[in-house]
Amino acid sequence: MIGAKVWTASSQADAGELDLHITATHLFEHASSPTGVGFVLAVALVRPHSQGTLTLVSRDPAVAPRIDLNFLAEPGDRRRLIEGIELARRLGAAPPLADLVERELNPGPQATSRADLEASMLATLDTYHHPTSTAPMGAPDDPAAVTDRLGAVHGVPGLRVVDASIFPDVPSAATNLTVIAAAEHISRQI
Ligand SMILES: Cc1cc2nc3c(=O)[nH]c(=O)nc-3n(C[C@H](O)[C@H](O)[C@H](O)COP(=O)(O)OP(=O)(O)OC[C@H]3O[C@@H](n4cnc5c(N)ncnc54)[C@H](O)[C@@H]3O)c2cc1C
Repeated sequence: MIGAKVWTASSQADAGELDLHITATHLFEHASSPTGVGFVLAVALVRPHSQGTLTLVSRDPAVAPRIDLNFLAEPGDRRRLIEGIELARRLGAAPPLADLVERELNPGPQATSRADLEASMLATLDTYHHPTSTAPMGAPDDPAAVTDRLGAVHGVPGLRVVDASIFPDVPSAATNLTVIAAAEHISRQI
């Protein structure tokens, strides 16, 4: 199933942004399907407005920080993700995918209202593992900025950070290549 991806904008996406991914995947417990086989149309909101927090709990660097991912705290994020789920359901119900489908397992045909979809979404919520922006780049007078545009930490001479933490915002693209691109871009300039 992997080989196609929908990368599109919800009706409430910010201008010029693609905030939804729908990924076809075989990552699925096939034994849970009455036919013994199945596929997933996994829906992701890739430009969330909900922000998590990373808090140091100790001055000892060996002590893990407290991470609160705070998924879907913003109601608008829930609405946009539900829109993606509705689109995925329409794709699954239309040819050619519909010809392969015996029946929808999740949310399932009994889920007809937005409230049903929201309950299913919250019960099956997962992550892409793409957290970013805990030490974002920005201008020196921006109180939220930790580094400049080349990863140099404001106010700490000789210290540079070049990883997913310096992205000013969560990218719509996946983060692995985005980190590599940022690293190559910065390494060429220092
Ligand atoms: C399960 C999973 C699946 C993913 N799938 C995809 C995918 O399909 N596509 C995609 O684009 N992205 C994917 N990602 C996201 C992507 O891997 C990350 O966004 C990316 O690796 C982040 O890069 P980074 O350099 O910021 O951090 P990392 O890659 O985490 O690098 C941090 C490095 O710092 C080292 N380190 C930590 N502490 C110390 C220390 N005290 N001293 C020295 N070194 C230290 C760590 O060992 C590590 O090597 C996935 C992530 C996960 C977890």
